[in-house]
Amino acid sequence: AEWAAAVAAVRQLPADARVLLICHVNPDGDALGSMLGFGLGLRRLGVRQLQATFPGPPEVPEPFRWLPGLDLLVPQDAAYPDPDLVICFDAASESRLGDLVDRLESAGTALVLDHHASNTRFGGINLVDPHAAATSVVAEGLLDRLGVSLDAEIAACLYVALSTDTGSFRFEATTPAVHEMAARLLATGIRPGEISQRIFDTRPFGAVRLFGEAIGRARLEPDAAGGRGLVWTYATLDDLARHDQPPYVLEALIDSVRCTAEADVSCVVKQVAPGEWAVSLRSKGAVDVSRVAVALGGGGHRFAAGFTGRGSADEVVDRIRAELDGALLAG
Ligand code: 5GP
Ligand code: MN
Ligand code: MN
Repeated sequence: AEWAAAVAAVRQLPADARVLLICHVNPDGDALGSMLGFGLGLRRLGVRQLQATFPGPPEVPEPFRWLPGLDLLVPQDAAYPDPDLVICFDAASESRLGDLVDRLESAGTALVLDHHASNTRFGGINLVDPHAAATSVVAEGLLDRLGVSLDAEIAACLYVALSTDTGSFRFEATTPAVHEMAARLLATGIRPGEISQRIFDTRPFGAVRLFGEAIGRARLEPDAAGGRGLVWTYATLDDLARHDQPPYVLEALIDSVRCTAEADVSCVVKQVAPGEWAVSLRSKGAVDVSRVAVALGGGGHRFAAGFTGRGSADEVVDRIRAELDGALLAG
């Protein structure tokens, strides 16, 4: 029923309708890739008044600055104030949309495409599939139902999204259906080696040195998380400034920390403002970190979750330790 409503919402748009695409703050590969890929699909369908935006600073992280469809992006203040249709990508709740919540509320129709189990169903139409590996899986499903066939530009966007959220097809969510979708995307002629190198394997030397510093002060707590182990580190705005790096470079830091054999749970605490930290949590499987994140005001998935923490980095980690114990007690 939700699929039919979503298809109708797009098909019944008048020719002069204004469509606004939005995604979560600090957009990652899935947020940007599913939004821009779907946007290119809408353009093929003849939607002429089409914008895409996201909350917060308007800069697109360097690794994504080659994505097809970037010309759809406008700064959030320039986005249609009362669009006929808003489509929201990869956001589990309105809290991930900053000031763009206004646009959701003033839109004729709000369509939400997402895959977080913690999604709060904040749209008028909610295409939320917690079993989907990425929001791009949902986006491809809707494009298909709308009769849009994949081309290399749409496919590049959806491939970035799918490979980001599956950790390059390594995570548990990498089902046969994921590989089948990847096969459809690759059949358009996109180059997976080139794309992966751009989005995963390229970073400025300053970021390499910054990672070295942050990894060098990582702490291993084998007794935390009921003896399953916690490894954590942090990075401050001062660290970023000293290495002349933008905040997004820290998104990949968790991947260099979570490989720690002695810890099931890993954590990176990233300063975003004085007294404010963006926290990334990962689990190897024994602990459901989304429960920890939700308890602390955030969300996410069983193996990858996050929240915004206040106070000092130590205080934020204290709260995580306490919640980890609680999450284990709750089973
Ligand atoms: P990451 O650590 O890569 O930023 O995020 C991992 C997962 O946790 C993603 O699925 C993301 O949607 C979710 N997540 C990260 N930060 C937050 C947050 O502040 N609030 C909510 N609701 N989810 C978050
Ligand atoms: Mn995301
Ligand atoms: Mn996602």
